[in-house]
Amino acid sequence: MPEWVTHVAFGFLLALLLKRQLKFPVLVGAILPDLIGKLALPAAFLIGSAGADSLFGIGHTPAGALVVAIGIAAILPQSFKQTFYSLALGVASHFALDLLQGPYGQQLLWPLLTQQFGLNLWYSDSVLPLAVTLVALGVYTIHFALANKD
Ligand SMILES: [Zn+2]
Repeated sequence: MPEWVTHVAFGFLLALLLKRQLKFPVLVGAILPDLIGKLALPAAFLIGSAGADSLFGIGHTPAGALVVAIGIAAILPQSFKQTFYSLALGVASHFALDLLQGPYGQQLLWPLLTQQFGLNLWYSDSVLPLAVTLVALGVYTIHFALANKD
């Protein structure tokens, strides 16, 4: 997985480009699949590591993360539809980045298929995704500043 800075920066860039009004849920969605996995550690004390790994591993699938996104959107005070779409955009951006890396693939079609998909363009410890995202964010920021200059 790219680290969370890359996921959040890429999600923020997408939110800006797509002019999402609710940007924070996009950022939460951008790390949501990994965040769910981090909950496995405390859960392992309660239900054992094998059970926690399989339960929270589901969260690192599009279907699992979107089910959690529905739950989050349902409890937040903003519009359910707007919040869910923003969370879903963030989740989609997360899996788009994870799909590009190797050596492990992503179970994009779970529960229909357990096959893993991946393009192996870089390894998970590479700084390339972060560098590309930060350069794109910088270009967008400069473009935005010049476009709004009086
Ligand atoms: Zn991930």
